[in-house]
Amino acid sequence: MKVNAFVFEKPGAAGVMKWRTLELGDPGPGEALVRHTAIGLNYIDIYHRSGLYPLQFPSGLGLEAAGVVEAVGKGVTHVKKGDRVAYGTGTLGAYSEARIMPAQHLLKLPNGISDEEGAAMMLKGMTVEYLFNRTYKVKKDEWVLFQAAAGGVGLIAGQWLAAVGAHGIGTAGGPKKVKLAKEHGFEQVIDYKKTQNIADRVKKITKGAGVPVVFDSVGKDTWAQSLNSLAPRGLMVSFGNASGPVPEFGLGELASRGSLYVTRPSLVAYTSTRQELEKSARALFKMVTSGAVKIEVNQTYPLKEAPQAHRDLEGRKTTGSTIFIP
Ligand code: NDP
Repeated sequence: MKVNAFVFEKPGAAGVMKWRTLELGDPGPGEALVRHTAIGLNYIDIYHRSGLYPLQFPSGLGLEAAGVVEAVGKGVTHVKKGDRVAYGTGTLGAYSEARIMPAQHLLKLPNGISDEEGAAMMLKGMTVEYLFNRTYKVKKDEWVLFQAAAGGVGLIAGQWLAAVGAHGIGTAGGPKKVKLAKEHGFEQVIDYKKTQNIADRVKKITKGAGVPVVFDSVGKDTWAQSLNSLAPRGLMVSFGNASGPVPEFGLGELASRGSLYVTRPSLVAYTSTRQELEKSARALFKMVTSGAVKIEVNQTYPLKEAPQAHRDLEGRKTTGSTIFIP
């Protein structure tokens, strides 16, 4: 079977992604052949493409998609031909019309969730699940700071916080994004294009206390402000680097701000067994099918236009989730 897919042979700007025709064989033991109906764009795709996260070349791209199982290899019993599935973990290669992949990452999509929503939410939504349930259990009535609140992960996070009854403080670039974040569960949203001192604003909102936890995926540009927003013994969850990696820092910076904690979590480590993966997906599916979290697909591109979508995501032009249709 011949399929079209993006591959790249060296890291670099969006132009390194090449549209190629590949020959797919049959799935081997533990593998499945999935025909994609929708594919998710994630910021990690940019880290892979740019070389921030080093890869072996040539490589495919993309970690999130929805589709239909066309065939399974030996030993695969949890999915079968014809099943509607989605995934947000595994090996790179989602930017393709179809692919063969390890079947252990596939999850059956519930009836109430469309393929487009599935492709837009698996990686981002399971990230929110582990961040709020397992990295730090967010509680009712607690203030929480979440950077980049109008993005793909951000809009899911705001609604999840509201569902739990926590008070979300978000940050976003520009008035339109601020409005959007507010419409998606964040009680207070700071426009960090206008406000230089996020920590001062957070302290004001929390009546001087600071927040017990910060979720920061912006990295370099917000690192210091995030630390300064924490209450003594608070937890800094640094889970991304959209503005660049966090600069090296001395442990003394944690002591001087009141014995802070820092963690650098990844979805892979929180879904390392099939049991953990299924539990995370179940919690996400429940949030979405109950209506507590609505998945906002705010940009849709033909798969072939993925390089332009990368430029738009890097250029901070997107909000919510972005998908590709093959
Ligand atoms: P987003 O849709 O949130 O896009 C990134 C956003 O970051 C932009 O829209 C922009 O919003 C903000 N941003 C701030 N500074 C910059 C900058 N210099 N360049 C570009 N963007 C900037 O992406 P995703 O929802 O895909 O992912 C959000 C973050 O979460 C990413 O950093 C990603 O790597 C991380 N992540 C981490 C995971 C983990 O397990 N560790 C798993 C999933 C995601 P604004 O204009 O409002 O500032």
